Amino acid sequence: MEDYIDILAKRILRRVIQEGECIVWQGARNKSGEGVIKYAQRIHSVHRVIYAWHFNGVPDGADIMHTCENLHCVNSAHLWASNKHSSDIGELAKRVLANTKPQGACLIWQGGCNSLGYGRIRSFEDGKYTYHGTHRVIYAYYHHGIPEGLDVCHACDTPACVNIDHLWVGDQRANSQDAARKGRTNAGERHPMHKLSWDTIHAIRAQWASAQQSGQSLYGVQTAIAKAFGLSLERVNRIVNGRNWKGN
Ligand SMILES: [Zn+2]
Ligand SMILES: [Zn+2]
Repeated sequence: MEDYIDILAKRILRRVIQEGECIVWQGARNKSGEGVIKYAQRIHSVHRVIYAWHFNGVPDGADIMHTCENLHCVNSAHLWASNKHSSDIGELAKRVLANTKPQGACLIWQGGCNSLGYGRIRSFEDGKYTYHGTHRVIYAYYHHGIPEGLDVCHACDTPACVNIDHLWVGDQRANSQDAARKGRTNAGERHPMHKLSWDTIHAIRAQWASAQQSGQSLYGVQTAIAKAFGLSLERVNRIVNGRNWKGN
C-alpha cells in the first residue's frame, strides 16, 4: 500500500462525527457531493481512501459504494467495491421493467413468482437456464451490483415489487436471527427491541403513516426515521411493516 494512504486515512478520521451507525466526514465536498481531501496537489475521495486503507487497496476498475447510501460516510463496514454491471444485467433489467404494472406506489412484476411471492426471470447462460430474483436484478442494475452476503429487502414488504425506491440491502444474518426470535413465544430481554417503548413505536408508525401520503420515496422516509430515532434502517423497516412489535 502506498504511504500516502496511511497518512490521508489518519487525517480523514480526525475530521468525522458518529451519526447512528455511520462515521461521517465533516470536511470538503466536491460538486457531486462526495467527500474529498487534498494531498500533494491532488484531490482524493475520502471513502475511497478509507476503503483502500482498510482493505489494502481498491480492486481494478471498481467503484466504492455505500450500503448506507450516505455519501459522506467513511465507516469501512458500510463500504463495498462494485465492478460495473455487465451488459447482461442491463438486458435482464430491461426485460423485468417491460413486464410490470404500477399498483399504488409499487411496481409489480407480472411474470412468474416463487412460492414466497418473489418474482423470477430466466436467462440462458453456459448452455443452461438460470433463474434470477427480479428485485435482485433491478437492485443490481441500479446500484451496480449487490454487496456480498447481503439480501435485497423490500421497504414496502411486497415481494413482487421491483420499484427501485422500495429496495434496499440488509444483513441476511440479522434477518434470519430476527426470524428465529419471532419463532419464540417470548422474545425476552435479549431481544434488541426491548429497549424501545410502545410510545416510541407509535411515534415511528405515526411519522411513517403521514410520510407515506406525501409521495416521498419509502426508502428515503425510512432512512429519515432511522436517523431521527437513532435506529438502523433494518429495525425501522421491521417496525413500520409490523414484523416486530405486533399488537397494541
Ligand atoms: Zn454509513
Ligand atoms: Zn413496493
